Amino acid sequence: MKNVNSKEVSVLVSGPFNEPFDYVLDDKNTNFSVGKIVLVPFGKRKIVGIIIGGGTKTIPERKLKTVLQVYDLEPIPKPSIELLNFLASWYCVFRGLVLKMILSPLEAITSPDYEKVYKSNFPNKNEINEIEEIKITYKRKLVLDFLLNLDIGKSQNDIIKQTGVSKAILKDMTQKKLIQEKKVYKAQNLDSCFLKSSKENKKNYDFLNLEQKCAVDTINDSIINTKPDCFLLDGVPGSGKTETYFEAVRTCLDQGKQVLILLPEIVLTPDWEKRFFKKFSFAPLVWNSVITKKKKKKIWLTALNGTAGVIVGARSALMIPISNLGLIIVDEEHEQAFKQEENIRYNARDMAIYRSTRSSAPIVLASATPSLETFYNAKRGKYIHLTLPKRATGATLPHIKLIDLTTHPPDKGKWLSPLLVAEIESKLNNKEQSLLFLNRRGYAPLSICNSCGDKIKCINCDTWLVEHRSKNLLVCHHCGFSRTFENLCKKCGAEGQIKACGPGVERIQEEIKEIFPKAKLIVLSSDTMNNHKILNDTVDKIKNNKVDIVIGTQMIAKGHDFPNLKLVCIVDSDVGLSGGDLRASERTFQVLQQVSGRSGRHAKKEEDKGVVLIQTHDIKNPIINAISKNNRNEFFDKELMSRQNANMPPYGRLASIILSSRLERKLETFSLELLKSAPIFKNVKIFGPAPAPIYFLRGRFRRRFLIKSDKNVNIQDVILNWTRKVNLPNHIKLTIDIDPFSFM
Ligand code: ADP
Ligand code: ZN
Repeated sequence: MKNVNSKEVSVLVSGPFNEPFDYVLDDKNTNFSVGKIVLVPFGKRKIVGIIIGGGTKTIPERKLKTVLQVYDLEPIPKPSIELLNFLASWYCVFRGLVLKMILSPLEAITSPDYEKVYKSNFPNKNEINEIEEIKITYKRKLVLDFLLNLDIGKSQNDIIKQTGVSKAILKDMTQKKLIQEKKVYKAQNLDSCFLKSSKENKKNYDFLNLEQKCAVDTINDSIINTKPDCFLLDGVPGSGKTETYFEAVRTCLDQGKQVLILLPEIVLTPDWEKRFFKKFSFAPLVWNSVITKKKKKKIWLTALNGTAGVIVGARSALMIPISNLGLIIVDEEHEQAFKQEENIRYNARDMAIYRSTRSSAPIVLASATPSLETFYNAKRGKYIHLTLPKRATGATLPHIKLIDLTTHPPDKGKWLSPLLVAEIESKLNNKEQSLLFLNRRGYAPLSICNSCGDKIKCINCDTWLVEHRSKNLLVCHHCGFSRTFENLCKKCGAEGQIKACGPGVERIQEEIKEIFPKAKLIVLSSDTMNNHKILNDTVDKIKNNKVDIVIGTQMIAKGHDFPNLKLVCIVDSDVGLSGGDLRASERTFQVLQQVSGRSGRHAKKEEDKGVVLIQTHDIKNPIINAISKNNRNEFFDKELMSRQNANMPPYGRLASIILSSRLERKLETFSLELLKSAPIFKNVKIFGPAPAPIYFLRGRFRRRFLIKSDKNVNIQDVILNWTRKVNLPNHIKLTIDIDPFSFM
């Protein structure tokens, strides 16, 4: 028999479910709010979920199972639940799976740490003075004073440390009802970095330049008036965007609200943290893929209870249930890293904009090279466009020169033009640093047998293996497969005939070593910089002028400020231009512009001006030209026009369906079957099923559909109605990718 006082609730459980299930709560009298986290029986298991409303009353109450536990935590805030619903419907994924991301790390909920805290029964000064029946000794007064004006109380340890009284005194005071003892989740008593932030810091707004101040004022106005405006903070590298949004962060903290800063994982360096610390004298809470479970737990709990001031994290930080959010910053908003490409395919930048509207909080998208979508939205007034046109330090922008590789080719088997080598030499003579940029890890992207022409491929994927000479390995950059490099063709058996084709950073390093044997070199790529400490130390080394020449991949393009770096060489600007996907040119433009921005960041005088050399085979290419003229808007306008002509985003909508299976034939049959049931609408075009550009990946064959529609079409509904019509065989995985970034 159920308790007559029971109360029905709908619970969304974490897992692959879209609809909530009904349960009953044993105690009708307690006021349970939406968002409360609960533990419920589910089949033979117990699952964590959240209450999302009253029960549906469709099942007789006696048949319903009882909620096992209601966790003593604040409810998941409403904007997070709204985000959950929106994200699930936009990206066609189960709500329960999005909830799973929100309730992570689960340990924060299921295995909380308890601690004893003491709270004063006389929370204000006058009351203490009026106590008559008990003598307020010196020690008792110390404790009462320490606990003055505290809602939550302090832990036993804190009190003893601060006042020097003994445990016995606390016990005695509890018996005398001067204070009360409580057991609370440790989270409720976690240090708040709010107070520190707003009180110990003085405004330092005066040093900002006029454009920065204007931007800060505009953002501040939205923070203070809780207007969910979306800002594009658009400024050349070094124009002071970070400095500008830091001021907005300060304002938000002063309003007693929490801040979320999203950064691509690679930008989230110790360097950035140090800079933040220097500015605010407290550390932000950093959420990325390498922090410990314990730290994650702490961040999650303090976000939820409203005491975490600033949370900075990679994409998944958007899912943290921050209860009192007042501002979101998305730095490097154009970065592809904000798009998750596995499990739940979502774009954290886009969802952050939605989240901000639900929290009535403004959001700042910062970039030196905004994405085309964002630029378009700013242009038509949907976002507020804030521009910082000059370098904040007064430094001049670098001088950009193109090197035509057809007229000034490198020596045979080499990659650096004599013009470029000469410029590096002159910088070396001046004791200035040079950076060579090539977005290719390893030694060579392709190994070919001179005897039979075989190109060495991955066993799991339809991709070439990349030679990593320093480790003597051939590595697949898609699935991670690797094997020892042997100079022996597996196909024809020829010995010593394997030839490296094309350069990677290791090969450039080899070439530079030959030309400048005495120069101090460093290679910055995810292979050499595989942990934060190494990266941190290396960045310091470069800053402190202990390195002459840096050779780096994309990793170097972002965020770093190297005062003595005067020359940036783009070894191969043609990489990426021929990729054939929607954003190939846009991305190339962004990367090249960003790398260029590393040069001469502090040059004040014309003759100190940084130099950028771009090697190209295609000197007439419009992208290369727009970069060389530093003319971003011209490039954007051209690119927008071509998108409009093709009815591509941001003018139309795109989605992909990716089918994969280990069974090649059956995959083909199924994809044709799916095509047969494809819907026919005037404003929806369906392409495919084509073999994916990477047809074989991690042991699975892959086919793709591309769906293109007018902007006003609900492309999600079209796809769901279509794919639900067919029965999906067990061996096939069907993935829907809305607003795709990758076309591989
Ligand atoms: P961005 O984020 O646009 O690349 P930063 O905020 O990192 O630019 O600023 C670049 C450099 O200029 C930093 O060293 C920063 O401290 C400095 N800076 C920023 N604003 C000013 C200013 N108004 N006056 C002087 N230096 C500034
Ligand atoms: Zn592979």
